[in-house]
Amino acid sequence: MDLDLSPQDQAFRDEVRAFLDAHLGEDLREAGRKTAGVFAEMEAGRRWHKILAKRGWSAPTWPVEHGGTGWNATQRYIFARETTAVDAPRIFAMGLRMVGPVIMKFGTPEQKAKYLPAIVAGDMVFCQGYSEPGSGSDLASLKTRAVRDGDDYVINGTKIWTTGAHVADHMFCLVRTATERKPQDGISFVLIDSMDTPGLSVKPIVTLAGDHEVNQVFFDNVRTPVANRIGPENAGWTVAKYLLEFERGGDAYTPNLHARIEDVRRIAREEAADGSGRLIEERGFAERLAEADLAIQALEMIELQVLSDLSKGRNPGAVSSQMKIRGSETLQAIDHLGVEALAWYAAPFEPEARTIGHNQPTVVPEAGITALPLYFNNRAATIYAGSNEIQRNIIAKAVMGL
Ligand SMILES: Cc1cc2nc3c(=O)[nH]c(=O)nc-3n(C[C@H](O)[C@H](O)[C@H](O)COP(=O)(O)OP(=O)(O)OC[C@H]3O[C@@H](n4cnc5c(N)ncnc54)[C@H](O)[C@@H]3O)c2cc1C
Repeated sequence: MDLDLSPQDQAFRDEVRAFLDAHLGEDLREAGRKTAGVFAEMEAGRRWHKILAKRGWSAPTWPVEHGGTGWNATQRYIFARETTAVDAPRIFAMGLRMVGPVIMKFGTPEQKAKYLPAIVAGDMVFCQGYSEPGSGSDLASLKTRAVRDGDDYVINGTKIWTTGAHVADHMFCLVRTATERKPQDGISFVLIDSMDTPGLSVKPIVTLAGDHEVNQVFFDNVRTPVANRIGPENAGWTVAKYLLEFERGGDAYTPNLHARIEDVRRIAREEAADGSGRLIEERGFAERLAEADLAIQALEMIELQVLSDLSKGRNPGAVSSQMKIRGSETLQAIDHLGVEALAWYAAPFEPEARTIGHNQPTVVPEAGITALPLYFNNRAATIYAGSNEIQRNIIAKAVMGL
């Protein structure tokens, strides 16, 4: 594995940097800096999506024929690293990252033409309706029922923890279309074309940090056309599993970890240590910062190895579970250091300080305004996209043969 960037990759990195200098305005960077959840403030995210789409860069993992960049794995990593380092807003990208690749693989020509260009352009925003109360890790037990009525399915039931259901305009979801067989064999994958469809309602779930990102969604005789089913009826489990590969393995973790640890360093350079000097020079704190840094570097080596494998056409397999575990746990360790660095100055509840354009004095130092919200919100990182216990089960079975 050659870790040095080739001259072509260096030229690509410089091209990305020049683009970011020219197009990523301070207001968008502010939106990126103030994000403490999985996506930035929606208006800023959409604006950034459109800017990227205009340049042809909104879908880094997609093939050119569907409006993607056609970049290789190294280019995608460079792009993620460069954009994260300068606080580009995190786009709410379940269309780009999850349902888009599914439609490419299982969709009809009509479905591809209807959805893919709109997702790339940022004109269609999807949320994911998989989990239900009682059906998270044990997803195949899901109960939301879809019954055929003429050319429609009529859906009844509920989904929970639906990220961004309140800002999305479309939803992809798993529904039960047969009950008399093995649970996995009675599930279908359907799209809902409007979150304003009669009978569909969205109830907010506010996080400990005061953020509204997740929801419970209720279906009361919601109709969606049979033509909106992706793949055959009762074959939704195969479609769902294909999508999960993208949810768990699609993104590099370390660009975000590098950016987060840099935030903590910024706080520690400003904060006083007990006694004298700055916290960054205090031995105990500096040691733990170095430990987190080493964890990131170790993970980065694995990630680069995976990229190298992918570019040779090899599937990373259970390594993506290992990366999910290490990535989420390292993120939580960094969040912990950020809060510790601020001590009680992390605690004041000032959600208004995270709104774009806010310029009033705050009790929390400016560099630490997201520290506690990140700490709270990222507790979920070891739960969503398949909990870390489930990832450990996968490693136990696939790698250790237990
Ligand atoms: C912030 C956030 C955003 C989310 N966004 C979405 C979304 O957009 N769309 C969506 O569909 N879902 C979403 N989820 C749901 C997420 O996928 C589930 O929460 C997750 O799969 C766990 O399921 P559960 O909550 O039902 O917990 P359970 O499955 O009930 O698990 C409870 C505990 O038991 C452990 N456990 C369960 N089974 C096993 C086992 N076999 N072996 C060992 N331990 C086990 C789990 O690890 C966990 O610690 C989100 C969740 C969160 C927290």
